[in-house]
Amino acid sequence: MTGHIKIAGVAGWPIHHSLSPLLQNYWLKNCKTNGAYTMFAVHPNEAIYAFKTLKKTTINGLNVTLPLKALAFEAADEVTPDAQKLGVCNVLCKRNGKLVGHNTDMEGFAAPLLEHIGHHYILNNAVTLVGAGGAARAALGSLLALGAPEIRIINRSNKRAKKLVSNINIPNLHAYNWSDRHNIIADTGLVINATAAGMVGHEKLDIDVSTMKKGSWIYDLIYTPLETPLMKQAQKHSLNTIGGLEMLIAQARPSFRLFYGTEPPNNVGAKEMLIKHLQANK
Ligand code: NDP
Repeated sequence: MTGHIKIAGVAGWPIHHSLSPLLQNYWLKNCKTNGAYTMFAVHPNEAIYAFKTLKKTTINGLNVTLPLKALAFEAADEVTPDAQKLGVCNVLCKRNGKLVGHNTDMEGFAAPLLEHIGHHYILNNAVTLVGAGGAARAALGSLLALGAPEIRIINRSNKRAKKLVSNINIPNLHAYNWSDRHNIIADTGLVINATAAGMVGHEKLDIDVSTMKKGSWIYDLIYTPLETPLMKQAQKHSLNTIGGLEMLIAQARPSFRLFYGTEPPNNVGAKEMLIKHLQANK
């Protein structure tokens, strides 16, 4: 390979747990693109300055992770419509001398949903969304864009769920009290866990899915562990499950395209590679 090396990376604080370098470098190697990808620890107090100076460097762009996504939005000269909807950016990229903020989480959330469950199912079933943070907002934006007919939101702190619903203010979106969570999921066809509950080091999500119809779906956005307690509970009751690793990969694909100007390779075993890594580092 000859010519100019395209450089990109991921910024966060802390950043050493990020799977992005592993994934992006795996794709780089498999599509023989002349690029490099690394990680940058950026303190939140310095993040806006660091992001704004990107334009003066040879770095093409950055993935941005916790807790810097809102700061990336603030630092960007322009943002895409998806980033505008969510008010946070998970990708910064240079274009025509400007720093453009993107959000690929909506696209990342939708891809596994459409692949495994299909659009027809989404259009014909009520959905329960658990959570009211950043991931829940991306899931909600995506579900609305897909035309989900009824979305029920529940969150441990009821106030946040109610605020999210009143900010959007559309008739097919309802906030329910956390105390009603076991009942309201019973007649929904899909439950999405967009909370941190069930992650390694956190308590499990306190929700009983046994009342859901067999064959319904649980989509857990968590990817550590690969199989969460919620997914295990769901499988016991003959429900279908999707874990968060596929969203992680799907939200990374558009950023690879932005950084390196080419599609990441399909079907080269990125998921298997990440599973192997996560299992070895449990
Ligand atoms: P936020 O900090 O913005 O939100 C956290 C949410 O989790 C809040 O709704 C919070 O409720 C809820 N929560 C935390 N602990 C509990 C608990 N014990 N019981 C019930 N609810 C709880 O985080 P994000 O939205 O950014 O991330 C949420 C999850 O989504 C994380 O697990 C993250 O790993 C995952 N994620 C996965 C991605 C992927 O690519 N697969 C991408 C982005 C996120 P409250 O408001 O009451 O505090």
